[in-house]
Amino acid sequence: MAETIYTIPVNESFSAAPEHNPAECPFCLMKKALNNNEIERILGAAMMEPDVRIETNKLGFCKNHLNEMASKDKKLPFALILESHLAEKKKEIFDSSKLFDSQGNKQEKKLSSLRESCYVCTRIEYSFSKMVSNMFWLWETDDEFKVKFQNQKYFCLPHYEMIIKSGREQLNKKSFSEFYKQAETIEKKYIEELGNDVSWFCKKFDYRYDSEPWYNAKDSVSRSVTFLSGGINDKSKDFKI
Ligand SMILES: [Zn+2]
Ligand SMILES: [Zn+2]
Repeated sequence: MAETIYTIPVNESFSAAPEHNPAECPFCLMKKALNNNEIERILGAAMMEPDVRIETNKLGFCKNHLNEMASKDKKLPFALILESHLAEKKKEIFDSSKLFDSQGNKQEKKLSSLRESCYVCTRIEYSFSKMVSNMFWLWETDDEFKVKFQNQKYFCLPHYEMIIKSGREQLNKKSFSEFYKQAETIEKKYIEELGNDVSWFCKKFDYRYDSEPWYNAKDSVSRSVTFLSGGINDKSKDFKI
């Protein structure tokens, strides 16, 4: 059963996309909103909560999120997180004689296990998977939402892959084939348009096309990158429901 607390953010992401110019993948919009909330939360009041600190010390942070937190104007909260985190890492990696061998094998193993998790990514993935379930529930039960879905400009390729996979798992065969047809129609139309825009972009480098207008080609290169790779920090390839 979908958790209805996610209905509003899901609806917002699907409503926002057509008004954006250029439009964005609604799932990337969800991820961005989740990401911003998490960063704000972790550098805000949550930073002082002991149970949050235990979790952040345990899971650590990925490179992207460390850099993102460092770029914010929250130097003291971030430094306090680092102070505790460094102390914990020192304890885990260096303070136990059990982790020492003359060839460094044990430390290497420990370091690689620590590298695999991120507190922020874990929380985002958890909420995101709930939102995706909610999206399928809305698509099945809410006709207005179904129209919104069909009006999407595109889904980035990683999220297109994700909705095929999780849609097949969450919808019955008949519903899924309808859903898949709708999603595929959107995607096919967009990749054709995008391809034409990039071709026009290339043509504009030829002096014979100097006086021609750009049409939609000007931002077609950056739109292609977003379409092909999805949003920043996107881990939808590892995403599981
Ligand atoms: Zn996306
Ligand atoms: Zn992360």
